Amino acid sequence: MNNEKRTILPYSESAFDRLFRHRWALSGVAAVSLLGMAAAFAIAPPTDIIPSQATIIEQLPAPPLLPIASDDTFFAHEERVLASDTVASLLIRLGASDREAIDHLGKDRKAHTLITSNLRPGMIVNARISVTGELLHLSLPLIDKNTVVSLDRIGKRFVSAEQALTLEQRTVIKSGEIRGSFISSSEAAGLPEPIATQLVGLFGNEGSFYRALRQGDRFSVVYESFAYRGQEIRTGRILAAELGNRHRTQQAYWFQFEPGRGAYYNADGKSLSKPFLNAPVENPHVTSGFSASRFHPIFQTWRAHKGVDYAAPTGTKVLAVADGVIEAAEAQNGYGNVIVLRHDPTYSTVYGHLNEFAEGIAKGTRVHQGDVIGYVGRTGWATDSHLHYEFRINDEQVDPEALVLPESITLDRLRLTRFKASRQTLRAQLDLAKEITLASVE
Ligand SMILES: [Zn+2]
Repeated sequence: MNNEKRTILPYSESAFDRLFRHRWALSGVAAVSLLGMAAAFAIAPPTDIIPSQATIIEQLPAPPLLPIASDDTFFAHEERVLASDTVASLLIRLGASDREAIDHLGKDRKAHTLITSNLRPGMIVNARISVTGELLHLSLPLIDKNTVVSLDRIGKRFVSAEQALTLEQRTVIKSGEIRGSFISSSEAAGLPEPIATQLVGLFGNEGSFYRALRQGDRFSVVYESFAYRGQEIRTGRILAAELGNRHRTQQAYWFQFEPGRGAYYNADGKSLSKPFLNAPVENPHVTSGFSASRFHPIFQTWRAHKGVDYAAPTGTKVLAVADGVIEAAEAQNGYGNVIVLRHDPTYSTVYGHLNEFAEGIAKGTRVHQGDVIGYVGRTGWATDSHLHYEFRINDEQVDPEALVLPESITLDRLRLTRFKASRQTLRAQLDLAKEITLASVE
């Protein structure tokens, strides 16, 4: 490891989201600097795992100690990679004195590509070491790649491998009270930033959420969390939330009405989810609507404008108008940096002239409604900074402002019955969240 590698822990705001999602992997130094940036908002991380009916896990269980077998004795070790580490110093801290393993990690091409070249400060490495100090097993989760790489000693040989990372899904409950700002209150309650952001989106947009908020209001949240070996890697979706006081409360419950599809409902089963946001930017200002022909400022001719232009300063957040999978995030001639977001076989949306893509946005990334996917710019054929937005039905551009889309997915009788059962479980968890906080206050 050299100092250059240490700089892979970026401190810029654009990298904040990624840092936050993987904060378990940060060294102490980086974690301290994060606190100073707490006002920045992170995007909601993609959730590619469908939530099962919730199971409560209130506390992080400590990883179980491995029972030591009498004949095949080994020691299990876990270490965090330091900026000053070399492969040799890391193995020594793991309790191995194994020249062969060091050589293999340094010289074997596959082991080097998979493991050595991926070591970064802050990462957690697990190892099994024999009583004589031989490295028997080494594994390293690569969160960004969703894989875990490993090295195993098999007889006299070493075998390196890469496998999909299997995350444990848990349900976490948190509760707090508004004292001062929402951001400081959610921090005090230990709400991860992506969850705080989702909470704001659940009960309206940012403006209406903050307007409705009162000092002393309570909030309780039940959300998904994904862990690897007992450590939270990222958060998922809010499963239930409550906000308000004794006189007025708002509730939201996630309900999966069919495999892979769900939405938020209030306590009565009325949908809270809008299938598509009205606009992909906050405070939208349309400068050029959808038209069969308009005078093009660059080509100086009349051309069709099969989208809507929103004027916004460079760097303005661009939001996914609905859940979907990124079909393209690339530079194209006219569109500049463009994102094509596929919502289902019928619907897709397009976001052009972006200054840059948001952290983690690439072909295949799954995003949720309201996630930041990019930033407004003027790349491609654009005279000034704006977002070019297209709404496509069966890959044909349509006028999003003229569209009448279903307002919500209403629950029929059968689904409503299922919803009520699922709500009851979540309701109990919200109540538990409140009790836990009240007890800790007293
Ligand atoms: Zn345009």
